Amino acid sequence: MNERDSEILAGMLQEMGYQPTSELKEADIILLNTCCVRETAENKVWGRIGELKALKGEFPDLIIGICGCMTQQPDMAAKIKKRAPHVELIFGTHNIHRLPELVDKIKVERQSVIEILETEGNIVENLPSKRAEGIRAYVTIMYGCNNFCTYCIVPYVRGRERSRQPDDIIREVQELIREGYKEVMLLGQNVNSYGKDLEPKTQFADLLQKLDAIEDLARIRYMTSHPRDFDDRLIDVIASSKKVCEHFHLPVQAGGNNVLKEMNRGYTKEMYLELVNKIRTKIPQSSITTDIIVGFPGETDDDFKETLDLLQQVRFDAAFTFVYNKRSGTPAAEMAGQVHDQVKKERIQKLIKLQNKISHEINLVQLGRTHEILIEGINSANPDLLEGRTRTNKLVLFKGTSEMIGNLFNVRISDSGTWHLDGELI
Ligand code: SAH
Ligand code: SF4
Repeated sequence: MNERDSEILAGMLQEMGYQPTSELKEADIILLNTCCVRETAENKVWGRIGELKALKGEFPDLIIGICGCMTQQPDMAAKIKKRAPHVELIFGTHNIHRLPELVDKIKVERQSVIEILETEGNIVENLPSKRAEGIRAYVTIMYGCNNFCTYCIVPYVRGRERSRQPDDIIREVQELIREGYKEVMLLGQNVNSYGKDLEPKTQFADLLQKLDAIEDLARIRYMTSHPRDFDDRLIDVIASSKKVCEHFHLPVQAGGNNVLKEMNRGYTKEMYLELVNKIRTKIPQSSITTDIIVGFPGETDDDFKETLDLLQQVRFDAAFTFVYNKRSGTPAAEMAGQVHDQVKKERIQKLIKLQNKISHEINLVQLGRTHEILIEGINSANPDLLEGRTRTNKLVLFKGTSEMIGNLFNVRISDSGTWHLDGELI
């Protein structure tokens, strides 16, 4: 989501006459587009702000700005202003379209500008954007989140759910195809709530069906879907579509019902397992990945063991694993039974070890199998190899020529590791 916002910020800067540079000393403006979903992300920003202080001393006309989720937290703008007076521009997630006016204001008045809107406004369409090069383009289909999982800061910094009109999304995807993109990644905090707020109401499954019909689009992916809202119709639509990939990223967060309830996830372990079962019955070749948090307040050794058991029961293709972080303003930050750092560390190490073993075993099963690969580019570590992904989102490296980039080819898997597969074109 932030990467997509950064593409829009870069697009606006380009329209204002700025050019990108990789040399900090050449920059006239530096914007830090921040994330605050976990503490580590926020700490990184504070570190970066500190590093930029000397540069501002050397180049007083340089404009340093901070935007994104971190600035949207209560009192954060004042905190940044106090701790880092060299930051002149502070704005939030609801007004990124205001960047040109805010920069002009600084240039004219030569004093700091802070603009944080407390609530989300209407969606602003048709903003310029400087997209990442390649074959995959991000397309935001909805903003915000209504779920209020008790550990999560996203609903507070991104506002309530707002869906874009299907026609606007389809027009954007058609334009991306004209520009040469082959795959779209549809973005939303909970994509399967898409359309509930629109008039007339529509569903994520309807949007997928419309996008599936777009010619010259090779693949459709989406992130993130909430296990609670993944209904049978959506599975059926994905099963019958040509372009929607058979990769399900279904963040489970925890394996025990006590913790799931405290997290306010809205499903039980049994409901989750039933969903996995339904997906695998209807689409047997699908891959399933997840997000897991360890050390949620009150998580006992037994609760954690339930998470390990779930991992073994489901056998995820991969998992993003996180240590629980207190996020101020969220209910979990105030809960009793905060887990000691050392315990969290031990738990995450156990979790990663088990998941790596499972991922490797699943990848070994791919040996000798043929997969359709959308070729994304040349591998950065080994320029003799091309890289691409299976429909199930596994990275595959193989020999080929650069003219093949952007096209679909069949590749037979010849070797496998934990993180990628090797293959040969057939
Ligand atoms: N909307 C998505 C996730 C967005 S945040 C969803 O519901 O799945 C991405 C991941 O960060 C979450 O799935 C969760 O695993 C993790 N996360 C969120 N808040 C966290 C916190 N306070 N501490 C640790 N991990 C957190
Ligand atoms: Fe956060 Fe839950 Fe919303 Fe995901 S669904 S963004 S974890 S509140």
